[in-house]
Formats: sequence, structure tokens, C-alpha cells
Amino acid sequence: MNIILLGPPGAGKGTQAQKLVAERGMIQLSTGDMLREARSSGTEMGKIVADVMDRGDLVTDEIVIGLIEEKLNGPQGGGFIFDGFPRTLAQADALEALLRKVGQSLAAVIEMRVDDEALVARITARSTCADCGAVYNDRTRPIPADGKCENCGGTEFTRRADDNEESLRQRLMEYYKKTSPLIGYYHAKGKLHPIDGLADIDTVSGEIKAVLDKA
Ligand code: AMP
Repeated sequence: MNIILLGPPGAGKGTQAQKLVAERGMIQLSTGDMLREARSSGTEMGKIVADVMDRGDLVTDEIVIGLIEEKLNGPQGGGFIFDGFPRTLAQADALEALLRKVGQSLAAVIEMRVDDEALVARITARSTCADCGAVYNDRTRPIPADGKCENCGGTEFTRRADDNEESLRQRLMEYYKKTSPLIGYYHAKGKLHPIDGLADIDTVSGEIKAVLDKA
């Protein structure tokens, strides 16, 4: 079963994707993670996208579609979770064509609804385990008192370069201008399932599970 987690930055897509990976053996395809990896390993593509990402703009459709295509040709596990992809209508059309090519389809699009004020608070409190990528939040899921990641025991935590207020404002603008049209697009296709992304982590997981069980 293949699903999209759709929502603005800070809606909790990554956190919920990690839970689905652990509980259902699904494969998380986060174009943001792939781009950050390309940056930190210093590839040509990583150098090209670095400034764009730090500004909070979207990188080109061509680059992210290429990244996803590569992954769709790899292992399919318990299905794909598209996290932060697609972000434009062109990406959505490309995803449909790529899935068809590998004999797959999309079961559901989960729209995680949150309000802007909550996003600023969430994003500026966010940190990530440098070893396994587990997401923490100073308020809702603080790093354990012993300083060790709950998931892998790692002791190094990083904050994303684009998790600051100025960049977030631009990322939100990009979301409303270029990504929010996908809400209408998937509604028209009968795939859209809106859920309350402001509820606590386990309540949100429960809502996602209910959607997947019916899809
Ligand atoms: P994320 O981790 O999903 O918040 O993505 C971080 C940044 O990577 C975004 O602000 C964009 O600059 C870039 N990015 C990630 N996914 C995409 C995508 N599907 N299309 C265009 N840019 C993307």
C-alpha cells in the first residue's frame, strides 16, 4: 500500500512516517532527507540545492522526480510513504506515471491539517538524532534526560539549517502557492483524507491507521 503524507512543514509528516516504518515495514521516501544527504555528502546535486533549501524555496521538479524514480525501482517493502513529495502538480502527475510504470498505485493521501502559529512553535523547537534521524521536540518529545536517543542510543542531535523563522515563512509561502493545490487535486481523485495534525502523536497515528485499514 502506497500513501502520501501531505501537509506544511512541521505538520508531523516525518514523525508519523517513522512510526509507519516501525509498525508496518513501509519504506519512507522523504525527498527532504534525500536532498540533505546529497548536501552532506557533497555531491554536485547537493551543492546546487543547498542555497535553495536554506532560503526555503523548492528545488526543481526534475531533481526530486529523479530521486523518487531511483527509489521506486528499488525494494518496495510494505509499501511507500511519500513524505514531502509531491509538492507541485507536476510532481503529482509524474508520481502517478512512475507508480504505474512499476505496477503500483496510490491508496490514500493523508492531509495533516495544522495552523500556522503552531508550526512556528513546533519547527523552532525541533531537533533530530544525527545517527538515526529520529525527530525530537523540546516541548512535545524532548531528548531523554540521559542525552541518548530512544531509538538508537545516539548522543548527537542536530537542528536543521532551514528550521528558523525566516526560512519557515518562505517554506509556508511555497506550500500555500505550490503544494496546497494538491489538496483539490487528490480530493477530485477521491484519495484525500484530512486529519487533525494538532492532536497528540498517538492520536494522529490512530487516525492514520483508521484510514489505512479502510483504504
Ligand atoms: P522537508 O524536509 O520535506 O521539509 O524539505 C526540506 C527542503 O527540501 C524544502 O524546503 C525544499 O527546499 C526541498 N524539498 C524537499 N522535497 C521537495 C520536493 N518534493 N520538491 C521541491 N523541493 C523539495
